[in-house]
Amino acid sequence: MFYTRTTCRLCDSPDVSIAFKMPSMPPVDNYRLPGDAEIVLPAFPMDLYMCQACGHAQLLDVVDPDILFGNYIYTSSSSPDLDEHFGKYVEVVLRFLNQPKALKVLDVGSNDGLLLGKFKAFGHSVLGVDASEAVAKIARNHGIETHVGYLNKATAAQVTAKYGKFDLVTANNVFSHADNLQEFARAVETLMTDNATFVFEVSYLKDLVDKSVIDYVYHEHLCHHSIKPLKQFLELCGLKLVNVDRVATKGGSIRCYAVKKSSPAAELPVVQAMITEELETGLYDLANFKKLAKQVEQIKAELHLICKDVIQRQGQIALYGAAATATVLNYMLDINQYGSLIIDDNPVRQQRLSPGFMLPVLPASALLEHHVKTVIISAWRFADLIVERNKEFLDQGGVFVIPFPAIRIIKK
Ligand SMILES: [Zn+2]
Repeated sequence: MFYTRTTCRLCDSPDVSIAFKMPSMPPVDNYRLPGDAEIVLPAFPMDLYMCQACGHAQLLDVVDPDILFGNYIYTSSSSPDLDEHFGKYVEVVLRFLNQPKALKVLDVGSNDGLLLGKFKAFGHSVLGVDASEAVAKIARNHGIETHVGYLNKATAAQVTAKYGKFDLVTANNVFSHADNLQEFARAVETLMTDNATFVFEVSYLKDLVDKSVIDYVYHEHLCHHSIKPLKQFLELCGLKLVNVDRVATKGGSIRCYAVKKSSPAAELPVVQAMITEELETGLYDLANFKKLAKQVEQIKAELHLICKDVIQRQGQIALYGAAATATVLNYMLDINQYGSLIIDDNPVRQQRLSPGFMLPVLPASALLEHHVKTVIISAWRFADLIVERNKEFLDQGGVFVIPFPAIRIIKK
C-alpha cells in the first residue's frame, strides 16, 4: 500500500535529511459515508524531508495513488474559488504566450474540464488527461475530450499517437503529486511541439515556511517545490524554466513556465531573483523547519491545557473544517481525541465521518442543537469567514479557538 524511497525525487541523491516530523495518518481526505467499504484505511507515515544535494523538500513515503486518488469525488467545478482562479489563469497564460493562432492545449489532471473549458471558450482545441474515469465522464459530458490515465511514458505515447503534439501543456497541482516526477516531466517534454510551453502551478515551499502552512504537508503532496531545485530538475528532463508568477492559491503557490531546452526563449530575470531570495532567506537551512516544529509543539501544549479544561467544564468540543488540511492539523496537534463532532459548511462533506477518528461531520446548525460551547477552528486559514458566519453561536455565549499560527480566542 506504500513504499519508502531512499533517494531525492528530483536529483536521485541519497543525501536526504528529515526536515519536519509528522505523525502517521490515514489518507487525510478520506471523509466517507457510514458503511463505505473504504472507511477504515491504515495510517501511513508522512514526514517531510529535504535533499541536501539540490534542496528539494519532499515526502519519501509514497502511498499507492489508487488509495489516494482512485475514487475521489470532488470536482473542480464544485469550488467557486477555482472557477475564478482558472478564469484569470487562462487570461494571464494566453497573454504570456502572446500567440494569435488557435493553440492545441493539453491539461494534465484535468478533472471535470473546468480549466480546459475556459481555453476552449477562446477558440483553442483542448484535451484532458485524468486518472479518474468518473471525472473524465463529467468532462466529456461538458464537451471536453479526456484521456483516462496517469501521465507517464506510455500515456504520452498513446496521446501523441492519437492526437499529435501540443502547443501548451498545463498541469496544476498534479506536478506535486507524481512520485516518478522525472518520467512525468520527460513525458510532458515528448508531448510538446518545439515551440510549446509547459505551465504548471504548485504550492511554494517558501510560502509554506514563511506562512506556517505546514498542514499542507500530506501524502498526496509528495513534492514541496522551490525554484532552485526545480530549475536544475527541469534541465535534467530536457526543459528550461523561463518564468515564474507567484499566486495566492493553496496558501501561496508558484506558476512556472518551461520551454524545451532547444527553444530560443530566454530565462526571465525573475527566475534568478527568486533563487537568490531563497538562498538569502535560508530556505534550504533545516533550522527554519526546527523553528516551525517548536512553534507547533508550543501551540500543542497550550491547546491541550485549554481542551482538558473545556472538556471538564462543558463535556464537549467541536472542530471546524472537514478538509485534508484540517485532518493534518487535528493529527499534528493531537486534538481529535477531544472532538465530539466536526462542523463543515460544504453539504458534500456533511454526514460523512472523519478519517481515523470517525467524527461525524455536521452543518453549523448542529452547534446550537448539540449545545456546543467551544469550537476549535481546524480550518484556521478561513477563521475570519467562519467566525463571521457564526455570529449567532457567539451571541449565545459560544467560544472559537483559532489554533494556528498562534492561539487566539474569539468570544463576545
Ligand atoms: Zn535532490
